[in-house]
Amino acid sequence: MSTDIATSLPALGFPAAPDTVFDNRFVRELPADPDTSMRRRQVLGACYSAVQPTPVSAPVLLSHSPEVAAMIGLTKQQVNTPEFAKVFGGNALYRGMQPYAACYGGHQFGHWAGQLGDGRAITLGEVVNAQGERWELQLKGAGPTPYSRTADGRAVLRSSVREFLCSEAMFHLGVPTTRALSLVGTGDDVVRDMLYDGNAQPEPGAIVCRVAPSFIRFGNFEILAARDERALLEQLVDFTISRDYAHLAGDSNARRSAWFTEVCERSARMVVEWMRVGFVHGVMNTDNMSILGLTIDYGPYGWLEDFDPNWTPNTTDAAGRRYRYGQQPAIVQWNLVRLAEALRPVFQSPEPLEAGLDAFLRTYDSAYEQMMSAKFGFTAHGEPEQQLIREAFALMHDAQADFTLFFRALGEVPPVINHDAVITDVLGDVFYHENVLTQHNDRFMHWLRRWHALTSASGESFTDRRARMHAANPLYVLRNWIAQEAIDLATNGDTSRIDLLLQLLRDPYREQAGMERFAAKRPEWARHKVGCSMLSCSS
Ligand code: AMP
Ligand code: MG
Repeated sequence: MSTDIATSLPALGFPAAPDTVFDNRFVRELPADPDTSMRRRQVLGACYSAVQPTPVSAPVLLSHSPEVAAMIGLTKQQVNTPEFAKVFGGNALYRGMQPYAACYGGHQFGHWAGQLGDGRAITLGEVVNAQGERWELQLKGAGPTPYSRTADGRAVLRSSVREFLCSEAMFHLGVPTTRALSLVGTGDDVVRDMLYDGNAQPEPGAIVCRVAPSFIRFGNFEILAARDERALLEQLVDFTISRDYAHLAGDSNARRSAWFTEVCERSARMVVEWMRVGFVHGVMNTDNMSILGLTIDYGPYGWLEDFDPNWTPNTTDAAGRRYRYGQQPAIVQWNLVRLAEALRPVFQSPEPLEAGLDAFLRTYDSAYEQMMSAKFGFTAHGEPEQQLIREAFALMHDAQADFTLFFRALGEVPPVINHDAVITDVLGDVFYHENVLTQHNDRFMHWLRRWHALTSASGESFTDRRARMHAANPLYVLRNWIAQEAIDLATNGDTSRIDLLLQLLRDPYREQAGMERFAAKRPEWARHKVGCSMLSCSS
C-alpha cells in the first residue's frame, strides 16, 4: 500500500465546446483533508480528500453513451481519441479537473458502519455545460483513496458493464438515476472472490465514468453528525442547498426545511419508479442514497422476473432479505429517518423534519396509486380497483408471472374478448409455472372478467388505454441474464452486445424488430447461473 503523495497525472486540454467549463464548487467551497497522502485513515474536519486516479496499464474505451458525452460538450469524434480513454481510465486529467474522494459514513444493513467514503470512486470535477447545467464526473474503480480501507480501489469488468448499462437503461425508463459516460477497460486484472467461497480469481478490470449533478449521499451528512462536527454539518447542508437545490428560496431556516421535504419527496418518487419497473436495488444502505433522489451505486441489483415481493438479487442479503422488492419503500423511509436524525442539530426544532417525513408518506401514497393505476390501465382508484390489484399480485405470485411481460401482455388484451382465448393467446407466454393454465385458470378468468369490466366502463378507448399502459410498462429491461451475456462476450473481447443493448434500452417501451429474445422470459439456463440468479456484493 503506497503512502506517497498522489502522483501528478499529465494534464490535457479539455476538447469540449468552449462554453463548457470546469467549475469545481465542492472542492472550492468545502474544507479539504490537509493530508494529501493515500494512507488509509479516518478523515476528520473535512468533506473530502484530494486524490488522483492511479494509472492503469492499457486504457481502452469499450463503450460510451453519446447522449451523456453531448451533455458535457463532447462529440463522438472527441470521445474516440486516445486522450479520452486516458482521462477516463485514470491516466491523465483534463486541465481544470481537481480530483477528490468524498468522506461519508453510512448505515449498512441496518447498522451504523462509521466512516466509509469514496474507496474507489474519484470525482474528477464539475462540468458546467453551455445550458448552464452542472455535471459531476466520477470514476468508479480508479484506484485507492484514503477511504479504501482494506480493499484495492478497483472494479471488475462484469460489475462495470452492469453499472454502465443499467444507469443508461434506467434513465431511458424514466427513473431518476445517475448517468454513465464511459466504460474503459484497464488492461489490468483484479482479483475477486465472486461468491465469497474462498475461490478468488483474477478478472479483467474496468472503470465507469458516472455523471450526476451531485454525488452527495445521506452518509455525507451522517458522518459529520456522528462526529459531532456541527459547524461543518451546517456548512455542508447550506452548500448542498445552494449548489444542488438552488431553486429553493427564503431565509436559511425556511430553505433548510423546504430542502429536507424535497429530499423526502424525491426519494419517494424514485422508489415508486423502482416499484413500477420491477427494479430491486439490492444494497440500500444510507451511503447508497443520493441526496437528489437518484438511483445510485449499481451493484447486485436485479429485475423481478417470476413475481415475488420477497425476492432479492443480493446473495449477501439472502438471510434477512432486508432489501427485497416489497420492502424498498419502507427502507427508503427508514433511511430518511436516519438522515433526519443526522440533520437534527442544524434545525431549530424537529417539526420541519417531521413534516418532511410526512411528505414522504403522502408523496409515496399518491405516486404509488397513480403508478399502479397506469400499470393496470385503470382510470379510477377506488376499492374495486385496489381489490383487483391485490388479487393480481397474489395470482402473479402463485402463477409465477414474469413481472415485465405480464403487464405488457395485459395492455394487449383486446376490447372485445373471449376470455378463454385471451388467457392462452395473450397471457399464455408470461408464466414460469408450467401448469398455470390448468391450476389457476378459473382464478384468472374471474379476475380478467372483472378487470375487463372495470377498464371498459371508464369509456376510454382501447387504443388510449393500451398506449397509457405501455407507457407505464416497459417491454425491455436489463434482466440479469441479458447483462450477463454481454459481460461474457465482452470478457472475450467482443463489446458489440454492450452497444446493441445500449441502443435497445434507449427505447424500452417501444417494440423493436429483431429484438424478441430480449423481451422473453428468462431462459432455463439462466435460472441458477452465477450473475443471473446469484449476485454478491463482490465487484
Ligand atoms: P458499496 O457497498 O459498493 O456501496 O461500498 C461500500 C463502501 O465500500 C464504500 O465506501 C466503497 O467505496 C467501498 N468499496 C467497495 N468496493 C471497494 C474496493 N474495491 N476498493 C475500495 N473501496 C471499496
Ligand atoms: Mg456505495
